[in-house]
Amino acid sequence: MTKARKPLVEQLAPHCWRLLNHGFSMNTGLIVGAQHAAVIDTGSGPREAAGLHTAIRKITDLPLLVINTHAHGDHVFGNSYFAAQGVEEFHASAAAAEHLRSMGENERQLVRFLEPEMAMRQGEYSKILVPQRLVTADETMLDLGGLELQFLLPGPGHTDGDLMVRCGEVLFTGDLVEEGGPPNFEDADPYAWAELLGKLESECGQRTIVVPGHGNPVDIAFVSRQHRQLRAAILEGEAIVRSSPAGSFDPTAHQLEVLPYGPEQSAIFLQRLSVKMS
Ligand SMILES: [Zn+2]
Repeated sequence: MTKARKPLVEQLAPHCWRLLNHGFSMNTGLIVGAQHAAVIDTGSGPREAAGLHTAIRKITDLPLLVINTHAHGDHVFGNSYFAAQGVEEFHASAAAAEHLRSMGENERQLVRFLEPEMAMRQGEYSKILVPQRLVTADETMLDLGGLELQFLLPGPGHTDGDLMVRCGEVLFTGDLVEEGGPPNFEDADPYAWAELLGKLESECGQRTIVVPGHGNPVDIAFVSRQHRQLRAAILEGEAIVRSSPAGSFDPTAHQLEVLPYGPEQSAIFLQRLSVKMS
């Protein structure tokens, strides 16, 4: 029997909900049409997935399909639980599917405190399930019966395979937007991410509800601030990387303080920036 972790449920629009998983404050999305319902990201393992599934079944009994915004474990490790509940369609970008196939096993330790079964490969729901329905640039709409959702394939940014989902005024961005904590640069391309945030700003209107990968929903002004902050951090970061002796890049605490992301993510940010600069 799987120990379920109950999410917080919030309705954002007539057909759209977000379910906040408490562990990593990761947002799962739910979009309900007349024939199908789409679940956007499945949590960090069977415990969160079981809580999500129970909460979703209180909202809809329609057949479910799953969309993964990207390949990080806290967003996809609940996939196997959903498959065991009868879900057959798992959508993601080709790059995210490839990332999960090749790197997924390395991420199990990320969830060890929240999802020990997932971390230790125990039990029937701990398999890493790679999405098989690959979203392409040509296939931008998905019909849920009387309601269409739109895929936005923005290309590299937070990872090399980010996918956003829009339904009316609600936009699920995955970790391309982060609230309540710094953006995660572990697999990021800071330059591409800054470009993307610029495009995202132009996608949003004043009424758009932006559901970030983690934390509370935000608006266009927040996206704009995150965009400006990243542009400024890139300029600061480039100066730091250029001032370091070649081959011995090791930022000081003072250099990290200049950046807005806290010491850990700022160090990762500089590392990723230096790779992209070279
Ligand atoms: Zn992520």
